[in-house]
Amino acid sequence: MNDFTYVGARLHAEGVAMKDIAAEVGTPFYCYSVAAMDCNYEAFTRAFDGLPATICYSVKANSNLAVLREMAMRGAGADVVSGGELSRALKAGMAPGKIVFSGVGKTAWEIDAALEAGIFQINVESESELIMVNERARSHGVNAAVALRVNPDVDADTHEKISTGKVEDKFGVDLPHAPDLYKRAASMESVTPVGLAVHIGSQLTRLDPFREAFSRVAALVVSLRESGLEVVRLDLGGGLGIVYDGETPPDINDYAALIREVIAPLDCDLLFEPGRYLVGNAGVLVTRVIRIKEGHGRRFVVVDAGMNDLLRPALYDARHRILPLSEAVPDAEESLADIVGPVCETGDCFAEARPLPPLAEGDLLAICSAGAYGAVMASTYNNRPLIPEVMVRGDSHAVVRVRQEAEALFALERTPGWQETGSNRDSNIRNTA
Ligand SMILES: *Cc1c(COP(=O)(O)O)cnc(C)c1O
Repeated sequence: MNDFTYVGARLHAEGVAMKDIAAEVGTPFYCYSVAAMDCNYEAFTRAFDGLPATICYSVKANSNLAVLREMAMRGAGADVVSGGELSRALKAGMAPGKIVFSGVGKTAWEIDAALEAGIFQINVESESELIMVNERARSHGVNAAVALRVNPDVDADTHEKISTGKVEDKFGVDLPHAPDLYKRAASMESVTPVGLAVHIGSQLTRLDPFREAFSRVAALVVSLRESGLEVVRLDLGGGLGIVYDGETPPDINDYAALIREVIAPLDCDLLFEPGRYLVGNAGVLVTRVIRIKEGHGRRFVVVDAGMNDLLRPALYDARHRILPLSEAVPDAEESLADIVGPVCETGDCFAEARPLPPLAEGDLLAICSAGAYGAVMASTYNNRPLIPEVMVRGDSHAVVRVRQEAEALFALERTPGWQETGSNRDSNIRNTA
């Protein structure tokens, strides 16, 4: 990915020096490159050239409306996992006919919203959900296309918190129960089972788990067809890993070759739900060094971004590359530093004993590969307002989410009557004693 490079010793996002953006919007902020998204999208579509494949971008990876619009403009649909994501996808102009709804806990109102929007497919993950979709569809007077999400019981060999395809994970229907449930769906009045869905986890860096999962799905398709059931679509999920810091994820063309080998002969329409692959390396988090603190045999570099802005390191032990916005001189001596955020949690740490060129208070850093599962996971913990998101395209940039106002942090809170001025506070306290 070459869309974040040094030009004249300044780290740029495409044609824009990110220090100029920092001067405009302050720090920290997320910065996304349209060219990087475009390049990833192109590589993905090119790999599946000639196959009947539809890309349903996984909205949860980065759901900024501007990002969704970029995907929609390129012809992508959406994979949504909540009613809120469905609203966003529709708002961004994604065609309902290219939206699939995944997730293990869809509520009645979310299913209603999906039926009312007329989305392409609902991925059903349990018998109880199947019954609910059938009932809601009947009361709406429609027939819902459903795919059965199966749990192929394979070890995705990724972080335990992003593994979704083992029997002990909550996702999907166990393979042994899938045929009966599929049959049951086929007998229902207001749903039509169109196929199967599978998604075994995220940030996968090896092909074997995909091969194992897809092979099991393929075998199930064959056996469903042998019992007279129709299977016309396969949703192969997302999960392809990216490089954060030294990983060697599968090449997209090897992944595609595997699908051509194992899945293509089944002659199904294919859906893909890439998230991280499309946007992960298309974003960075820019942060400023607040303080350098010498600890006991350690140097702490305290930055103004925290785990509330980028949760991945704290949640998944993720380690992102970190680059200074001003390129170090070629023979600058590196020393070890812990890059930590200001949040009052020991887990608020972006790097430990990381070799870095000399840094001073006020310096700007880019935490790389922060385009996926970054801004979407942000919280206001420690009452830190949500940070801006900026999109760059060529020499242009635009703020696509403004910094949250400090006041917004408590705008939704209300004062109970007994705390209002004029109420008799003392007598209240006495009464409860
Ligand atoms: C999260 C998720 C994806 C996207 O995963 P990536 O690793 O970001 O590609 C796709 N499908 C489903 C069902 C998901 O939950």
